[in-house]
Amino acid sequence: MSDVPKSHPRYLSLTLRDAIVNGVEQGITSIHGLIAHGRGEAYDYLIGEKTQPFAKEAIRAAAAMLCSAKHPVISVNGNVAALAPNDLIELGQVLKAPLEVNIFHTESGREQKIREHLIKHGASKVLMPTTEVKLSYIDSNRKYVHPDGIYKADVVFVPLEDGDRCEALRKMDKDVVTVDLNPMSRTAKQASVTIVDNVVRALPLLCKEIKTFSDNPAAQETLAAYSNEAVLQEALQHISRCANG
Ligand code: ATP
Ligand code: MG
Repeated sequence: MSDVPKSHPRYLSLTLRDAIVNGVEQGITSIHGLIAHGRGEAYDYLIGEKTQPFAKEAIRAAAAMLCSAKHPVISVNGNVAALAPNDLIELGQVLKAPLEVNIFHTESGREQKIREHLIKHGASKVLMPTTEVKLSYIDSNRKYVHPDGIYKADVVFVPLEDGDRCEALRKMDKDVVTVDLNPMSRTAKQASVTIVDNVVRALPLLCKEIKTFSDNPAAQETLAAYSNEAVLQEALQHISRCANG
């Protein structure tokens, strides 16, 4: 880690940069992941680097959707593995859902390194892509999935997703829960539930919400009344209010 003093006004943001850079150095995160992270940082600045009410609303809907799923699966890429491995593992435990590695750039054994990194942090089971089954509507490496994981899933949790695969998963009639700081990305628009927040803040809140979730009629009503489009509009309005004020 670089020696950023805790008193530095951008301490947290700089700590996350360190985590991503470490991920690249360990071969977990793709060098392209740095660009995705930079875009995320810019949007985080715009939303005030805090979990806003529109994200809290999406977290409640996400918990209801994931808890009602028959076969929820957590898709892991190199950025989220570097930023929040412990929270991903906790989410898998509270949901009793498998983690599955799924990445775009597969250079130098990165899939295997992500798996080993998660196991080192305490994951008991990490599914890997296979050539046995493929997702439709997608040409990249991300089409290769595990038959007992993403292929079979009815709800997929995919933080920091790429728009192409989100679209493919939706076309395959799967619900997608994502965490994406950019409310204008294709992923944000196409997902069933989009949590517009930094994944490092959203994951612990989502785990907490799931732990206290009780499947009562009110929870189902929350989900039925949820509009992802409205939540994205709220995020955009928040950004423009901050920009004007
Ligand atoms: P899309 O393909 O959905 O249109 P994109 O091509 O702009 O999006 P990608 O590189 O495919 O972006 O995906 C990265 C996304 O993850 C970006 O929207 C970025 O804002 C977001 N992101 C990056 N870091 C974080 C983070 N720590 N927490 C939440 N979101 C993040
Ligand atoms: Mg993309």
